[in-house]
Amino acid sequence: MSISQNIIKLEKSLPKGVRLIAVSKTKPKSQLLEAYHSGQRSFGENKIQEMTEKWGQLPKDIDWHMIGHVQTNKVKYMAPFVHLIHAVDSFKLLREIQKQAEKNERNIGCLIQIRIAKEETKFGLPAHELVKMIDLAEQLPNINIRGLMGMASFTSDENQVRTEFKTLAALYKETRTSSPECKILSMGMSGDYQLAIEEGSNMIRVGSKIFGERNK
Ligand SMILES: *Cc1c(COP(=O)(O)O)cnc(C)c1O
Repeated sequence: MSISQNIIKLEKSLPKGVRLIAVSKTKPKSQLLEAYHSGQRSFGENKIQEMTEKWGQLPKDIDWHMIGHVQTNKVKYMAPFVHLIHAVDSFKLLREIQKQAEKNERNIGCLIQIRIAKEETKFGLPAHELVKMIDLAEQLPNINIRGLMGMASFTSDENQVRTEFKTLAALYKETRTSSPECKILSMGMSGDYQLAIEEGSNMIRVGSKIFGERNK
């Protein structure tokens, strides 16, 4: 199947209210354009340099989502245009985003990435620091915290993945009671987005199911 057929089929299968981010990392411009022409406007990248290059070369009505780990010293390159940063997981990073957003006279939407996977990973904020992070963000005028993001363990154990999604969904629900402007729960990729949606995800990040396997 072609990229546009993949997108159309996927979009049709999604419940109302679930947004699809097409993860286009490592893929050439021509393939992003094919997705664009079938109506896709939200793209996810995990490298700031690659995203910035694509932003410069592709239509301006695309929403660019930074879904990967962000190095503080590179925030400045995406600050003029990034739509949503999914993986904010430190105070230092949040302060840098504030600084660069202010310079560009814009507000930047952020999701806080929570460490939910049982497997060893250095990315993601421990859940117990979430409240502190949201308190800090409230003092940063150019930051809009719009929700939470998480990645489940890379495992074929469905129960494990479901449990991790449940943990994040519960945290999201809790967060929403005090911060109603948090409306996004970004969880689910090609291999687990159906589970994620069952557990309450309203934003999925899908790459290989649309564009095919990535060459390393
Ligand atoms: C690459 C990536 C995805 C998409 O992965 P697929 O398995 O190709 O759908 C989603 N989220 C993040 C953070 C990624 O880095």
